[in-house]
Amino acid sequence: MPEIKVETIRRRARISTHSHIRGLGLDEKGRALPVADGLVGQREAREAAGIIVQIIKSGRMSGRGILFVGPPGTGKTALAIAIARELGEDTPFVIMSGSEIYSSEKKKTEILMEALRRSLGVRIRERRLVYEGVVKDVKVKRVRHPLAPYLTIPREARIVLATKDEEVPLTVGEEITEQIIEMGIRRGDVIWIDAETGKVFREGKAKDFAEVKTYDVETKRLVEIPRGPVKKEKEIVRTLTLHELDTIVASQRALISFFGFAFEKEIPPEVRKEVDETVRKWIESNKGEIVPGVLFIDDAHMLDIEAFSFLTRAMESEFSPLIILATNRGMAKIRGTDIESPHGIPLDLLDRLLIIPTRPYTSEEMREIIKIRAEEEDIKLSDEALEELVKLATETSLRYAVQLLEPAYIIAGENGREQVGVEEVRRARQLFIDLSASVKYLKEFESKFLK
Ligand code: ATP
Repeated sequence: MPEIKVETIRRRARISTHSHIRGLGLDEKGRALPVADGLVGQREAREAAGIIVQIIKSGRMSGRGILFVGPPGTGKTALAIAIARELGEDTPFVIMSGSEIYSSEKKKTEILMEALRRSLGVRIRERRLVYEGVVKDVKVKRVRHPLAPYLTIPREARIVLATKDEEVPLTVGEEITEQIIEMGIRRGDVIWIDAETGKVFREGKAKDFAEVKTYDVETKRLVEIPRGPVKKEKEIVRTLTLHELDTIVASQRALISFFGFAFEKEIPPEVRKEVDETVRKWIESNKGEIVPGVLFIDDAHMLDIEAFSFLTRAMESEFSPLIILATNRGMAKIRGTDIESPHGIPLDLLDRLLIIPTRPYTSEEMREIIKIRAEEEDIKLSDEALEELVKLATETSLRYAVQLLEPAYIIAGENGREQVGVEEVRRARQLFIDLSASVKYLKEFESKFLK
């Protein structure tokens, strides 16, 4: 189905630009280290986010949310992802843009309801067949994007999984590869893959392994290397989101009734009710527990009054994820009304939000971030290329500079080079212009032709 495909690609692109982020990079006292867990600078915002994580862990966040305010490219999404990482691997994290509620196929509140249910997990205990071990090697095989030959898309990955007793090379398909990239799985990680569903879980970093030399000593999550064979039965704790449960129940119903295909567009309310009841029973009998995740809505000023009141109500309900909004607007009209309000958000909702500002980066900080991204994408940069990108980031935006890495790398490949040099960065810049340049270009075009 083309519609679904588009969504997966977009989601991957959005999250994978943040795959270097492993947490908030705070010390035991909650102080931000200058560079840690993939994060650079933005120390006050990171410390504020650390306090939020503590409030959530103590279960006292209900009825409240967060608002990140700051100029574009200052790490609002990056920080939201860091919060989700701190909350744990099985914490659902949903990322969307305010404008996504405007669809011709689904009601706005339905889109938000689905997003909320995707960000609420249920933890269930059971025995399953898994592949478990330390990652000794991981290589992602990419192919050119059929429509945009300058982009590549990951198709499969070869990983070598090892335990204390065995070592097994595995070739995994697109879905698992996608997760490996999104989660930033690398050498030294202890992971397991559910043999049935293909879901990948990371337990932490390997504590010690003669041949795994590159584990990160800074990460707190060091675990023992598993014993026994790579493929085995294991008692696992699985987290499914309420939306996954909704879909399972809805598809079971569709099989029985033959005409129930409507759920592909919208989940019927009875299904949600049934799922809620089942989950409540699991909780009562200690079979399961709710894992509140994070719903991150970027460009929150794009939401309208109806969406805002829906979210305000959702924050107060029995099961609610942490709702994080982000915006780069100051005073703006609340959509769907004539009322001006700070950040285009109604006051009654603003009252429930803790506001965290993000500040523009210095060029040193941007240099660090670009370096981390290049390392993450396995791209070697010459010193001059790095400086050129830092210059671009300062003049245009950090996001633009980060986005040029991959095209520059492909151009370097075409030039028969392993390292990206300054020429490749300049060539990539010529081919893919930044936002202000594209606006200028069209303005010039208009003035030439519309007179
Ligand atoms: P917008 O307002 O346009 O949505 P944003 O504030 O959400 O922007 P991000 O998308 O988070 O900005 O940041 C742009 C890029 O820089 C991303 O690849 C992100 O992971 C990276 N990045 C931003 N801040 C940091 C940071 N402090 N440390 C490491 N990487 C960062």
